Amino acid sequence: MLYKLLPALNLRFLILLLALTASVSTLVSSFHSTYQVQKEQLMSYTLKSNYAYANKLASATDNFLEAAMQQLAYSAKKIELSINNDALLQEEVTRLNLQTNSFNSVVINKRGIIAATSPDLPQIIDKPIYSTGALQALEQRQPLISEPYMSAAGNLIISISYPLFNLQGDYLGYVGGTLYLKERNILNSLLEQHYYKEGTYIYVVDANKRLLYHPDHERIGTYIANNAIIDKVVAGERGTATALNSQGNEMLAGFAPVAQTQWGIVAQRPVKTTLASLDLLIVEVIKRTLPMAIITFILIGLFAHFISRPLKQLAEGATTLDDPNSLTKLKSIKSWYFESQRLKLAMLKGVNILQMQIGQLRYDAQTDPLTETHNRRSLNGLLNQLMLKQTPFAILEIDIDFFKRVNDTFGHAKGDEALKALTSIIKKLSRKDDIVARIGGEEFVLVLPNENSESAFNIAERLRITVESTSMETIGFITISIGIATWPEHSNDIDQVYKCADKALYHAKEHGRNQCVVAQIS
Ligand code: GH3
Ligand code: MG
Ligand code: MG
Repeated sequence: MLYKLLPALNLRFLILLLALTASVSTLVSSFHSTYQVQKEQLMSYTLKSNYAYANKLASATDNFLEAAMQQLAYSAKKIELSINNDALLQEEVTRLNLQTNSFNSVVINKRGIIAATSPDLPQIIDKPIYSTGALQALEQRQPLISEPYMSAAGNLIISISYPLFNLQGDYLGYVGGTLYLKERNILNSLLEQHYYKEGTYIYVVDANKRLLYHPDHERIGTYIANNAIIDKVVAGERGTATALNSQGNEMLAGFAPVAQTQWGIVAQRPVKTTLASLDLLIVEVIKRTLPMAIITFILIGLFAHFISRPLKQLAEGATTLDDPNSLTKLKSIKSWYFESQRLKLAMLKGVNILQMQIGQLRYDAQTDPLTETHNRRSLNGLLNQLMLKQTPFAILEIDIDFFKRVNDTFGHAKGDEALKALTSIIKKLSRKDDIVARIGGEEFVLVLPNENSESAFNIAERLRITVESTSMETIGFITISIGIATWPEHSNDIDQVYKCADKALYHAKEHGRNQCVVAQIS
């Protein structure tokens, strides 16, 4: 059994344990659920706001691209009719570049040959150009936003171009603006406007999952593989997701596509950063809860103390029920609640009965049942006490004369009556401190403390004469013989004192009975 292996735990400890377990588990579970609820709210709020943010940036990017395209369209209309006016072309690219601020550079390409550039680059004017953007625009002959590509000057760029046609509809080339992805441009300043708000950052990929924008500029131009969010956003989906980023951090992301270009914009925030404030919150909650928890625990401790105290005292009392003081001790216990009151009452009852029985047993063990005087055991104890206290005493050994005859004549029952009658005479004549004992069939001892041989003899004589002159029912008169010895006068050894008294009694019997004899001092 388990309870046999455990050390005996006390009630107070158990109550404390119970209270502590209950309060700690309540606190922990409420902290836990608070944490969970707040966490879910924070995460869902972050996902929603990132989603809104990605959408807003997607539409802003759309607007920017549309506006840029319109600027190019307007310029195209303007220069289509004067395609051979180099000064006008140069003026227009300069205007586009400087006035609109939409592009890092602007170029007019006449069927593969550079006709004008801004910034001004005379060395490439009238030269052919084979860049990816240029080839793509020449081939498609329509408004176009190119994929990112490396320019001849070594910039990672995208170009936005608008085709040029004459009135007959012949293709003339295009006017195009470029954005240097790794340098300051209007697109990234648009994207960077809110970037890094409380750990939130954004990035943009093109349809080929290539980074067009990222706060870490080094990564611009690289491809991203194995990213579920990017897979979705380049497929034109919008929404929210929790996913690992390339550093393996869990991210709360909102994403939206840019309609015109199949680009995708992702706004995301690390879960860790999002929840950091929550950890602080919980620490704060714990800090504020702690004093109350400590006060509660102290109160529980006091309660445990007051609840367990009466039971503890009753339990202690139960181990000393035979102690004569146990009744007083039990009565003094403050049993202030029902169960302890009941226990106390039951124990008081039990102790009463027990002590009564102990008293009865003690009385029985020390008393002669016929005469209700001390028996030999009790007599020995009392004499020991007198000797310990150095109280001198005299022993009167009393024996009825010819008692056998009484029995023989009147029967044993009448003999017993005579023994009782004699006892009452002895008791009547004895004082408070005298000890009356029946030590054999019809033999009594009367102990007289603080009496010497002489005074003891006088008392013995008075007793003898009283017995002699008292008529007993049915049997009439009896006589007694008394042997007297004293302690420590006759001997310091109590056995010797008895022997002396025996001898004196024997002497009395020998010399005619019905007499008192003081033992000789040897
Ligand atoms: P003596 O004068 O020599 O003392 O003569 P005695 O007959 O009294 O002799 P002894 O003291 O030897 O006798 C004891 C007798 O006491 C024997 C027995 O019949 C009687 N006796 C002893 N105990 C009891 C008792 O409890 N009840 C009664 N009724 N008689 C007892
Ligand atoms: Mg006798
Ligand atoms: Mg006798």
